[in-house]
Amino acid sequence: MQTIGVLGGMSWESTESYYRALNQGVKASLGGFHSAKIVMVSVDFAEIEALQRQGDWPAMGQLLAEQAQRVQAAGADLLLLATNTMHKVAPQIEEAIDIPLLHIADTTGERLVADGRRRVGLLGTRFTMEEAFYTERLTERFGIETVVPDEGQRQRVHDIIFDELCQGRIDAGSRTEYLNIIGALRRQGVEAVILGCTEIALLVSQVDTVMPLYDTTALHAGSAVARALEA
Ligand code: GLU
Repeated sequence: MQTIGVLGGMSWESTESYYRALNQGVKASLGGFHSAKIVMVSVDFAEIEALQRQGDWPAMGQLLAEQAQRVQAAGADLLLLATNTMHKVAPQIEEAIDIPLLHIADTTGERLVADGRRRVGLLGTRFTMEEAFYTERLTERFGIETVVPDEGQRQRVHDIIFDELCQGRIDAGSRTEYLNIIGALRRQGVEAVILGCTEIALLVSQVDTVMPLYDTTALHAGSAVARALEA
């Protein structure tokens, strides 16, 4: 079994989900007392969040590239960057390390293609929903068309992530808002919705809706487990 590297803390609320999913994945395959071999570096999310507000992506790229090198030095065979948004600086991170970065949009795109999905809704931070690094990768590599909520809804989706989910608050009213937004995407004819932020599955899960949901945290962790075990 290979050692899975996790660069987390963005936020730690979702890194906890990764830790659980990685261990459960290995246990599901190997049984008994088996658990995942993991090394993790967890950053202080306040530093990242401040740089996001300043729009200083080169500084975030530099910071995360250095932390990724620490994950590699600790013996990881592959790297998970445990956030969708920060994949905006994935190229800077990849340049700084020799181990493979499992890109979260690729693990999601692969599953969408396997399930025959072509047109899907996307929920995430404003960065993920509005900038090219995520949606264009899904289109160019996987032929997937993404549909995002309207301006006002995107702001609510974003605010709930930062003001609530990344701070450990799970609110029933916010769940209803998310489900209404998923309903609006459904009326636009999408076949499924990507939970394109690693905290969203803390709020909304498949039992809440008939719309097929693609939880990027679970897919990302599952793909790392498959890779670690096949080696
Ligand atoms: N975890 C989030 C994501 O998947 C948002 C926090 C961040 O900005 O990294 O995009």
